[in-house]
Amino acid sequence: MELTDSVKTIKGVGDKSLALLQKLNINTVWDLLRHYPTDYDNFQMPVQISGVSEGQIVAVEGAVSRVTTRPAARKKVVTCYVSDRSGALKLIWFNQQYLIKILKPGFRFLFRGTVKRDNAEYAILQPKMYQRTEYAKLLGSLQPKYSLTKGITSAFISKAVKESLSGVKIEDKLPASFRKENDLMKLSDAIKTIHFPKDMNEALAARRRLVFDEFLDFILALQALKIKKEEAVNNFVITDYSACEKLIGELPFKLTGAQEKAFNDIKKDMSSTRLMSRMVEGDVGSGKTVIAMLAVLSAVKAGYQAAVMVPTEVLAKQHYKDFEEKLASYEVRTILLVGSMTAAQKRKAYEKAEAHEADVVIGTHALIQEGLQFDNLALAVIDEQHRFGVNQRKALKEKGLRPHVLSMSATPIPRSLSLILYGDMDLSVVNEMPAERLPIKNAVVDTGYRPTALNFIRKEVLSGHQAYIICPLVEDSEDSDGENVIDYTDNVRDFFANAAIKNGDGKLIKTEYLHGRMKPSEKNEIMERFAAGETDVLISTTVIEVGVNVKNATVMMIENSERFGLAQLHQLRGRVGRGAYQSYCIFMKGCEGKEIDDRLDILKNNNDGFKVAEEDLRLRGPGDLFGVRQSGELSWKLADIYADAPLLSLASEYARNIT
Ligand code: ADP
Ligand code: MG
Repeated sequence: MELTDSVKTIKGVGDKSLALLQKLNINTVWDLLRHYPTDYDNFQMPVQISGVSEGQIVAVEGAVSRVTTRPAARKKVVTCYVSDRSGALKLIWFNQQYLIKILKPGFRFLFRGTVKRDNAEYAILQPKMYQRTEYAKLLGSLQPKYSLTKGITSAFISKAVKESLSGVKIEDKLPASFRKENDLMKLSDAIKTIHFPKDMNEALAARRRLVFDEFLDFILALQALKIKKEEAVNNFVITDYSACEKLIGELPFKLTGAQEKAFNDIKKDMSSTRLMSRMVEGDVGSGKTVIAMLAVLSAVKAGYQAAVMVPTEVLAKQHYKDFEEKLASYEVRTILLVGSMTAAQKRKAYEKAEAHEADVVIGTHALIQEGLQFDNLALAVIDEQHRFGVNQRKALKEKGLRPHVLSMSATPIPRSLSLILYGDMDLSVVNEMPAERLPIKNAVVDTGYRPTALNFIRKEVLSGHQAYIICPLVEDSEDSDGENVIDYTDNVRDFFANAAIKNGDGKLIKTEYLHGRMKPSEKNEIMERFAAGETDVLISTTVIEVGVNVKNATVMMIENSERFGLAQLHQLRGRVGRGAYQSYCIFMKGCEGKEIDDRLDILKNNNDGFKVAEEDLRLRGPGDLFGVRQSGELSWKLADIYADAPLLSLASEYARNIT
């Protein structure tokens, strides 16, 4: 078996599982081996039932009694009790009717799961069931937990990983001496260990090696991107910025000092003899788009074309609209190019770009497809650049004859790291928020506060504003009891309908939901309705996280906020407070715990992304490196730019020595 072979060559993987694995972006054996666990299940000794407390993951052993089954809203519920000498504990399953046959009163089993409060008593929702001998085999071990899709279990993936590990050879490109000096495992050992560690220390040691490789690959790819000085000749010298001055005068706001400075940096670059390669880094809402727009306008007025690449269609549409509105009177012809367009529409866009009948093309990854050629591309803008892989960035730069490149990112990282990560670019930092902004008011609450929160949202809507509610899941799931968009929307609709009756005002609140499994065109329409104010409350998964700008939205409520990384929560919060209105962010906790409070308090007390990142790192221990992804927005599987900063430096040094 080769690493590049299809996963189908693995014993036990058939056509059906192949399709499911592909959903997880797993095509080859190597993809599978690098589908690292997101966490481990630690199988501990069963505990006494009387000693369990809320939020704990426990195993209990005892006899089954009081088995019942009843239909509930779209679910069939099975409940029973398990008793040991110390007490009894309720167990609840959804849609697992077959259990009735197994759960015979008096039979003894082990049950394992998270303890929740079910009205006045404790219960385990969806517990896993084991025979004593079966559990004994797992006891004391760490079992990998993977990110999954419906129809695939962690056990299936771990079995496939085991199969492939026994059949492949993994080469190591690091010399043994370097590994030894720097405490880095052999690659083959690291891969094996990250899936099946004996203990957490082993898992962390394996992770260390894999993170090093991620950084090294990244840096090597960056180096390939770096333009040699003599090649970086500016073929597009732009010196006339009068249209930009005019546009600045027409904007409904005054540029902040930081925006002005960033634009000055850009002007200096583009009018010099050297090509521009600049990163504009600024917190969410600091106003990066308008900086890009000014750069684009100057390029077009000089007779050139510009491309703007963004990570999602929703964002592409939004920028397209924004550019159209502000630039149309400057005779700038802007077109859109996104994946969901028909072949004919795309062809039309290609023709316009090539014939220079369009000046600006705004789009997603569709921009880097071969079909798109420009007549005279002078500027490539990459928004939310951390969302793109190095190769995608490279592909855009290679359109045309070495255009100027302007990247934008909201990832707050210390300057020393920026120098490595953005090694091929100059940096402008937008460290100032527009003056009109009121700081967002934050609240961290538990689910008991939900009705109050929904009433608050209702009040905001009735005074003309809009709100977002984020749920971690798309639909009801057997593996997870987090809130899901579909059921939640039903509940919220009921809630608002009842509130209207109770208040006797009959005010109808329009809700819609949005998630990543919808077709792009459908997502766009929903987002557009929200942006146009036709929808009041949008219930969504984290798909709305990137860059979306609806100034009228004043409340962001995040369900199960304990499940998200702080960086991601900060990004989500950035969807509100983008205008002059007072905005609010409600972090709803799905379970309790001191750690959860400590983490969420960081967000409550800091609205600044740099501060959030800093405090977060201070709080986290090495054990936190699995589980919630902290900087999921950077294109690494394991590496955490904050916590792994020393490894980034090490990889950078190593790369310098081998090239
Ligand atoms: P981000 O930096 O997150 O990309 P945007 O560019 O989307 O932020 O800007 C957020 C909002 O702030 C937009 O509605 C934009 O029009 C507005 N904005 C940008 N600059 C200013 C400013 N100097 N004063 C007031 N509002 C501004
Ligand atoms: Mg933006």
